[in-house]
Amino acid sequence: MNFYGLSLNKLRDYFSGIGENPAKAGLLYDGIYKKNITDLRGFDFAERVTRRICADLELSIPKVVEKRESGSAAKLLLELSDGEFVETVLMRQRFGNCVCVSTQVGCNMGCVFCQSGLMKKRRDLDAGEIMGQALAIAKEFSCKIDGVSVMGIGEPFDNFDAVADFCEIVSEDKGLAVPKRRVTVSTCGIVPKIYDYARLSRPCNLAISLHAPNDELRSRLMPINKRFPIKEVLDAAEFFSKNTGRRVTLEYVMLGGVNDSPEHAGQLARLIGGRNFYINLIPYNSTDSDFKKSEPQTISDFCAALKKNGVVATKRREFGADLNAACGQLRSNHI
Ligand code: SAH
Repeated sequence: MNFYGLSLNKLRDYFSGIGENPAKAGLLYDGIYKKNITDLRGFDFAERVTRRICADLELSIPKVVEKRESGSAAKLLLELSDGEFVETVLMRQRFGNCVCVSTQVGCNMGCVFCQSGLMKKRRDLDAGEIMGQALAIAKEFSCKIDGVSVMGIGEPFDNFDAVADFCEIVSEDKGLAVPKRRVTVSTCGIVPKIYDYARLSRPCNLAISLHAPNDELRSRLMPINKRFPIKEVLDAAEFFSKNTGRRVTLEYVMLGGVNDSPEHAGQLARLIGGRNFYINLIPYNSTDSDFKKSEPQTISDFCAALKKNGVVATKRREFGADLNAACGQLRSNHI
């Protein structure tokens, strides 16, 4: 088992299961995450315990095969133990260092503007592999991780259990201790899983990729909308916000001439109503697709129209376009 994929609770269960004091889990967490112990033999445990944990656990972080850095963004291409590749991005934000992690190798959601979907899902990542991305960034750039966006390749709620474990592990006080309000999971809108997420004992933040203000357009852009239409998605988002007291981010990628007209802004504002949502307008990063980004003025007008109608909206800062590391652009050119 990879230590980095075990939540503190699961590690406690492991120790109980081998007849040892579960408090050893906290010692391992503290030693490895806080005191930078890199060898399971570096603990002051009885010989019997050391032998057992060395046999059962490993400290495995994906191998860095490529590293690129430009301005306030950086990208790593990582090789997993079975030879698959994933990409991870570091964004140096105003509040600190934010990592954008992938959750699957490829993606099956098929959003027509997104490059990640060009490679069908080959497999899910496990919690240790998601965690390994944050750890590889911290190690490679000698930096503290202050925030995590679960917005890389893959659909997090198509790999729910691993993502839920990851959220626990990365935010654990005895571990990296990234505050839960600084960890955001972004989904294309798999409704039953939004409810599951809302019912976790202490969920992280939620973002939903909306991208269109009506079902006709959204279904054209995002096939998942045919299964879970906008009303159901927003009802689930509202449930999350009421259950947790947190505001939900709705991502809206600005596609020139597609979803960026004043009429769309009006429709969107009516859709939101007075709910506890916040719209994040994402400038589209050009890919090989036929979609193009909206004009900066169009984005500003769209944002202003939303605000005029009482909707909280901001434009997302662009990161890493020159690294081919911008959102939706992560893919393993390597393959
Ligand atoms: N599957 C999840 C998370 C991954 S993508 C989801 O759909 O939310 C993170 C965000 O980037 C999503 O909102 C996605 O729609 C958006 N995105 C995809 N391609 C993009 C592109 N070329 N430019 C800007 N945003 C993009």
